[in-house]
Amino acid sequence: MERRPLERVRGTQDHQTRQATSLDAMRTKCETAFGLHGFRRVDVPVLEPAELHLRKSGLEIISKLYSFHDLGGRRICLRPELTASMVRAAIAQPSPRLPDKMFATGPVFRYERPSRGRFRQFMQTGVEVLGAEGVLADAEIIALAATTLDTIGITRYTVTIGNVGILGELLTHLGLTGRRRALLLESLEDARRHGIEAVRTRFASLDPDLIQPGESTRIRDSAVTAELSSTSEDALARLVAQTSAGDLGRRTLADVTTRLAARMHADTARAAVDRALAFIGELGAVRGDPDTALDAARALLEAHGLDPKPLDQLSETITLLDAFGVKRERVQIDLGLSRGLQYYTGMVFEVDHEALGAEKQLCGGGRYDDLYRVLGGRQSVTAIGFAFGLERLVLAKEAETIDGTGDNVPDAVFVVPSTPGDAVIAARAATALRHIGVTAALDTSGRAARGAVAFAAREGFAYLAMVSRDDPPETLRLRPLTPDGVPADDTISVPDGPIPITSTLEWLRANPAPSSESTGLHRSTNRSETPAEARS
Ligand code: AMP
Repeated sequence: MERRPLERVRGTQDHQTRQATSLDAMRTKCETAFGLHGFRRVDVPVLEPAELHLRKSGLEIISKLYSFHDLGGRRICLRPELTASMVRAAIAQPSPRLPDKMFATGPVFRYERPSRGRFRQFMQTGVEVLGAEGVLADAEIIALAATTLDTIGITRYTVTIGNVGILGELLTHLGLTGRRRALLLESLEDARRHGIEAVRTRFASLDPDLIQPGESTRIRDSAVTAELSSTSEDALARLVAQTSAGDLGRRTLADVTTRLAARMHADTARAAVDRALAFIGELGAVRGDPDTALDAARALLEAHGLDPKPLDQLSETITLLDAFGVKRERVQIDLGLSRGLQYYTGMVFEVDHEALGAEKQLCGGGRYDDLYRVLGGRQSVTAIGFAFGLERLVLAKEAETIDGTGDNVPDAVFVVPSTPGDAVIAARAATALRHIGVTAALDTSGRAARGAVAFAAREGFAYLAMVSRDDPPETLRLRPLTPDGVPADDTISVPDGPIPITSTLEWLRANPAPSSESTGLHRSTNRSETPAEARS
């Protein structure tokens, strides 16, 4: 039988203790912030009916769905995100209490092309508000994302706000419905990434006739409606009868008239789609600081005869953000922002971190007022939410700490009694260290100090604390370690003699140990990944 070692699935990660601990700590910080805002915790399954995501998630998510038939023949998927599950769970509740504010955390799965910060299995923590009316809800949810980052100590982020409702409004105005509408809504994101010309080409190849069998085209644009009503099917039939002089080949008059009407509908639909694509191009150019972008947006909507209400709401949201403590200079507007998920209906937002390169998005969310009904809810329920990617939060925090702007979590200390007779004071010292928040592992092996140094260094402890009855009571001697056990060089400060246990935390914070190429198991979680970790 083959005994070759098995590799983990591409795009997944084994989290060794340090990474697992960092992720847990990040989860706790986020969940604590959500709890402080009155959100309740829910847990939802990893396995869901695939239909939950096929109904409204959009191509971006569906094309990356892990789905399969289970042994009972049901089509199941591994959840690609948490929102749809949370809404499904809320619908299943006997009597919804609105507003319902909840959060969930757990692994999600997407068949992505893996890279640094982009995985096929990753952790999300997300909040949802069901029964979320108006701009106050919009602003509170954006502010919750931003202030959670503040609490974590992540500072170099930007909040970008858009509104997919504006494009939705134009499509309604033009009478564009069904698949064509869905494609156009998705094109906003494509235009942002690949340019409007690429979108035109893609759109033409996906929808060549711009007319689907059985799909009605209710054109509401006034010019187009006038054109159609002046050419009713009756009038067309008369025209066909007159011009064909009875020579219709094998077709009946009704056939020919219907085909001709369909062609005219197609032409008007094509005109409507062209107009929508032009609008998408213009909308994508509206971005920048809130004041400038809002002025440009007002001019654009006016030119297209659209209601400026979404812009008034955006402007109010930005004012409210200030009241929630989000700094104005962090906020940008980008009306080309649409996010990959098709269920958004209005305000959408993302939070990016400047140090994370291509996968810089820490958080994404927005308003999804249709989803509750689409997933089978009996009433319409307005809703809004967002999700953080926990791995990316850890990367962002590490990037800031490396650059010296974050706070330091003290490294773990290996506490060693100098002689077997020092066991009692070593136990007291370890306990006192833990009380002040220092991770302290006590050496209970009874080995000689020299052996303890080698062991502690190999295990990745950054400091050794030697405790002896010969020193003053309640003190210890701190000694930095390197992975190979050699005391570190002159660049590392070492207290000259014994220091009071009560000042150890302060001392460790002020003198973080150098980063380690070893497992770093007991070293601060604030350091960057090793090259090997970054590759995996
Ligand atoms: P979304 O559900 O697409 O709105 O994503 C919410 C957040 O999850 C993003 O802002 C990222 O922080 C994170 N995220 C999305 N996709 C990935 C991925 N493939 N790997 C790691 N994190 C991801």
